[in-house]
Amino acid sequence: MIKGTQNSPVKIDRFLPYPEEMPPLESFDWIDVNISGGNDSTAALLYMLYGYNVPKEKVTLFHARVDGPPENEVFFDWPSTQSHLEYLSRHFGDLPLVVAWDEKGFETRIRERGMFPDSSARYCTSYLKRDVYLKYARTRSKGNILCVTGERHEESSRRAGYPCWQVNSATAETKGRYVYNFRPILHLKKFEVSELIRSAGVKEHEAYQWTSRVSCRWCIFASSEELSAVAKLFPDAWERLKNLETSIGHTMKYQKGKRIPLCEFIHEDSEFEQLLLK
Ligand code: SF4
Repeated sequence: MIKGTQNSPVKIDRFLPYPEEMPPLESFDWIDVNISGGNDSTAALLYMLYGYNVPKEKVTLFHARVDGPPENEVFFDWPSTQSHLEYLSRHFGDLPLVVAWDEKGFETRIRERGMFPDSSARYCTSYLKRDVYLKYARTRSKGNILCVTGERHEESSRRAGYPCWQVNSATAETKGRYVYNFRPILHLKKFEVSELIRSAGVKEHEAYQWTSRVSCRWCIFASSEELSAVAKLFPDAWERLKNLETSIGHTMKYQKGKRIPLCEFIHEDSEFEQLLLK
């Protein structure tokens, strides 16, 4: 059993066994924790620092900005994500923070395809997150790199099948670069993640006041209640999202197998009528 250090702000005692097939943890030169700003990736960071006790000097926080280059106006990203990431970096003792992006960004990808992603064509994650990290990992010519992510088995039937480790496709034996994916919190339940964050004294991303998950403000998996709450907070970006639907002729959400416009999905028209009746 691996135990937390004496300096650990939290007690971490429910571990996945470290995979024997992977190189020893001490042999990694870089430990990149892919961080969205949400609780799961923050919990994965806590596990690495205070559970597996990796040296802080090897840890980098890696974040993929879904809207593309910083000169692009914030649309799918939460406006507060950058400052939350900076807070996390400071909180954990000035960990290096790398923010990278897909040059096109989410809106351009949607327009090019003429459709929003969905669970069977989830190109958002691959273009905007996975590929962005691969490009970053390939900038290192030689060494062992651990790519840490915060997926959990409980989240979906797809994630229930995820292994806790894999060889990452950025591996290039001829260059001496070996990249491994590691998912240290696959076994945790949502409530355990929340408890861990709370007991470690880490501030949550503000998005949790309105949504159950953090990454995109307008996530394809958001519920009607979540989208409705976020639409009220950001009316201009909401209008822009609805215009995007209209201009590509494809809707972001569907119900009972049928595509429906966003305004219908959140019952916006009936909310508006209620306001008029008041
Ligand atoms: S948060 Fe939702 S919309 Fe954004 S990349 Fe992930 S699955 Fe896609």
